[in-house]
Amino acid sequence: MQFDRRLFRMLGAARPALLMIIIFGLLIAICIVGQAAALSKTISGVFLKDQTLVSLLPSLVLFAVFSILLSLLRWLENSSANKLATHIKLKLRRDIAAHLSKLGPSYLKNERSGEISNTLVNGVDSLDAYYSQFLPQLLLSVLVPVVILVFVFPADWLSGIIFLLTAPLIPVFMKLIGALAEHLNRKQWKTLSRMSAHFLDVLQGLTTLKLFGRSKNQIKTISQISNDFRTSTMKVLKVAFLSALVLELVATISIAVIAVEIGLRLLYGAIEFEKALFILVLAPEFYAPIRQLGAGYHAGMEGVAAAQRIFEILDRPAPAVSSEESPALSGAGASIRFIDVSYAYQDGERPALRDISMELQPGTTTALVGPSGAGKTTISYLLLRFLNPDKGRILVQGHDLTAIDPDIWRAQIAWVPQNPYLFHRSIAENICLANPAADDRQIAEAARQANLHEFITSLPEGYETVIGERGSRLSGGQAQRIALARAFLKDAPILILDEPTANMDPQIEAQLIASMNLLMEKRTVLLIAHRLNTVRRADRIIVLSGGRIAESGNHQELLKKNGLYAEFLGVAGTAV
Ligand code: ADP
Repeated sequence: MQFDRRLFRMLGAARPALLMIIIFGLLIAICIVGQAAALSKTISGVFLKDQTLVSLLPSLVLFAVFSILLSLLRWLENSSANKLATHIKLKLRRDIAAHLSKLGPSYLKNERSGEISNTLVNGVDSLDAYYSQFLPQLLLSVLVPVVILVFVFPADWLSGIIFLLTAPLIPVFMKLIGALAEHLNRKQWKTLSRMSAHFLDVLQGLTTLKLFGRSKNQIKTISQISNDFRTSTMKVLKVAFLSALVLELVATISIAVIAVEIGLRLLYGAIEFEKALFILVLAPEFYAPIRQLGAGYHAGMEGVAAAQRIFEILDRPAPAVSSEESPALSGAGASIRFIDVSYAYQDGERPALRDISMELQPGTTTALVGPSGAGKTTISYLLLRFLNPDKGRILVQGHDLTAIDPDIWRAQIAWVPQNPYLFHRSIAENICLANPAADDRQIAEAARQANLHEFITSLPEGYETVIGERGSRLSGGQAQRIALARAFLKDAPILILDEPTANMDPQIEAQLIASMNLLMEKRTVLLIAHRLNTVRRADRIIVLSGGRIAESGNHQELLKKNGLYAEFLGVAGTAV
């Protein structure tokens, strides 16, 4: 039987709930035996001993009490199991989300969002059956038969031996079928994940697909994947039904063996009626939990298949975290030094940066320029600690950046990416992300500095306007300005700014540049620059090419060299 140790270890803080399940399981078993004893006593009293209702009243009442207790205990056991499952699901979702945020955007870039969200939602949900059905049933399938055996052996050892010999048959058959079921379940889970990822991809790219007239082709692909999923689901169901049939058959034959053995001995007067009835009533109860384990097993298997992927994400090592305090930064920011920093993606297979040495001086702006793929974003990710250098060090006021707690460090950085992520919330909530404690006045002030206040107040719902998924109801320039407002609100000493490349309305662009210049004042700025106007003002310019620093200096110095920088200006100049 597949009994994943790691899933069991996950129980952690939920152990008391598991203990309750064990206690309820034991009490259930005792009630089952008590109920059978009271029933056989009543029936033999009525049919063989001609007892009256009054003399049978105690055993009748006992039977009723055991029956009520049994229902109550089953309900309690069920609700403990559900509580346990809910607790674990909640914890797993929190762990995965926390780990994903530690892994950072560079990990997620290499994954398919649809697949990850399928794991987080459906994957964790499918563990519900493992914890609420399979695991408690596993405990019951051990506890109930053992307790029954304890009472059957003294009553009739021969039937006890038959119980003992036939009980393992069910788990053995289950194991045989289980291997096949496990393989099929894994396959089904993979297909479901592939389908989710593909759906999301197609939905997000629908405009592009329509534009190129390719949306019809997607119908074919989606129907193909859905068909694969249907086939694999049917295969899983086939095995599940087949195994249920086999298990029922084995259990029924075992009960029949007991019935024949008892019947024959009753016929020859080798066993008294009350005892025989007691064992006969107990026989189905003895096999019932093992049989139900078969059903729980298939439900739990789906969870085990999903768990593999969940653990794969959780096991992915996150950049090392240390609890050292962040060095105190002055109002104008910090001195940040890169010393021979190298980084490669995909476990070292795709080098992105090689031996980068540079210094960001407090209160100055350092511009990074270079063609796409030169490594500019990678430098900003290293500074944000989404990545750690493979080689070399990054020092902040002389402290190694890897030794500083990432959360404390990030609290000191404002980041304005090229395509800022906007949530399907109101404008105020989106700006507030930078400082959840900010009041309306501070939010409006940040929006004013980002040249956005007038636009927001012109909307019918003002700051409460909901901006759609990924800010779909805003233009690119407006989204950028919301990101700038966030940065103003955060008021951090260090700023990483990725300049927008999109061509904009000259008036909007002028407003955007004015806001950016205001934001860059008196901070340590790393600017990923694409425009002549902004790059020219930088205190220091670093020209990257193929992951290396090709040139560095200020605008005048680099112009004189007439090298890569001059070439870059030729391109950027036309954009201005
Ligand atoms: P830039 O910002 O200058 O355009 P990047 O820092 O994004 O450049 O990329 C530098 C190099 O690293 C490129 O060759 C790019 O293909 C590669 N790269 C960037 N992100 C990833 C990633 N998540 N996985 C693999 N390679 C990546």
